[in-house]
Amino acid sequence: MTYQPNSPEARDIAYHLHGYTNARRHDEVGPLVIDHGEGIHVVDIHGNRYIEAMAGLWSVALGFSEKRLVDAATKQLSKLPFYHSFTHKSHGTIIDLAEKLVTIAPVPMSKVFFTNSGSEANDTAMKLIWYRSNALGQPQKKKIISRLRGYHGVTIASASLTGLPNNHRSFDLPIAGVLHTGSPHYWKEHRPDESEEDFATRLASELDQLIQAEGPDTIAAFIGEPVMGAGGVVVPPRTYWQKVQAVLKKYDILLIADEVICGFGRTGKMFGSETYGIEPDMMTLSKQLSSSYLPISALMINDRVFQPIADESNKIGTLGHGFTAGGHPVPAAVALETIKIIEERGLVAHAAEVGARLQTGLRRLTDHPLVGEVRGVGLIAAIELVADAAKRSALDPVGKLGTLVNGILQKNGVISRNMGDALAFCPPLIITAAEVDDLLARIARSLDEAR
Ligand code: PLP
Repeated sequence: MTYQPNSPEARDIAYHLHGYTNARRHDEVGPLVIDHGEGIHVVDIHGNRYIEAMAGLWSVALGFSEKRLVDAATKQLSKLPFYHSFTHKSHGTIIDLAEKLVTIAPVPMSKVFFTNSGSEANDTAMKLIWYRSNALGQPQKKKIISRLRGYHGVTIASASLTGLPNNHRSFDLPIAGVLHTGSPHYWKEHRPDESEEDFATRLASELDQLIQAEGPDTIAAFIGEPVMGAGGVVVPPRTYWQKVQAVLKKYDILLIADEVICGFGRTGKMFGSETYGIEPDMMTLSKQLSSSYLPISALMINDRVFQPIADESNKIGTLGHGFTAGGHPVPAAVALETIKIIEERGLVAHAAEVGARLQTGLRRLTDHPLVGEVRGVGLIAAIELVADAAKRSALDPVGKLGTLVNGILQKNGVISRNMGDALAFCPPLIITAAEVDDLLARIARSLDEAR
């Protein structure tokens, strides 16, 4: 693509290195430069309007123009623009938020540690698990099991937990001590004639075998997203989590629920853990926590995790971990207001209701020749695009069809995201029934244009 000299696109190409972008081809594909947002829509610098069907990055729960969040940030900025949580310091906003999170947690939680991104929250979880094992006199109990296709972030530790090849290749990851077990992607990974139930049983048994092979007393924790997001919106079989938790209990292995995408209503309940009967020892939260208006994340831990950590910090003299902006008052104020709005407007029930409409509408596309499977729950969904539905086979190379349909959708006023050939939809929780219908019509039209 060629752009006017000094245009925003030309300057973006000149100066800006983008994550999750082919750095060599950025000029060819060209940047989509967004100017402003209105509800579930964003508008680019040329005036083109898009349904933001990914809520940015699975995250803008309240849409792109929620004035109350702006007011909450401004009010906090004027009152106390920064304070921190080191060396026994605190402030009212972070105390309120910590209390609120513990109150709404789906299982009893003891404490909240604040961080700035999902990656940092998961990184912190891993460090505190190691710290706890040392505190308990179990220095060999350090390994963490995550899953292929899982996504937990991009720091050295959290990228290691991530189970996607692009996050490891050429980065010399994963680090030692992180193990990956199979993903609950039934459509892609079940054996011929294997039911969903049998598939879940096999995954739990493979997990058990991995633990046995490594030595149960070397495994400290298991981490998983209730529904995998970036791995292609992988909705687990109904009994999967129940079976996995039975294995973890058997070997006294901690469970971390990565609720960075699922938290705050995405799956039609406040937390994905509620949707799937997960009882985590630790939970990581971010994204919809502040509707992504400002960066904030959190790690919640139960008493079983907290008490040994408290003992160890007492022995050493301090808990040697913390981020300058962890517990920053301004994103904390936005987070408190986000949760208040979600509760006041009944947006969790709303997500379940309009989510059902989205899921039903997308499943009507199952007969389309380019559709292999539609999956999802609440307001998170994916269409698995295929060249040959009968054979569940992709166009060569994998991702070509996904990129094609994603491009057509953009032309038709929808921002979606393709992970290979899985085309994801994860709109803001405030989407209305009429907007869901508008989105569905544009998806159907785009699929037809791709044939
Ligand atoms: N965990 C999950 C489930 C995510 O989807 C993400 C980001 O997409 C992360 C962790 C990492 O969050 P961040 O990008 O804020 O570091």
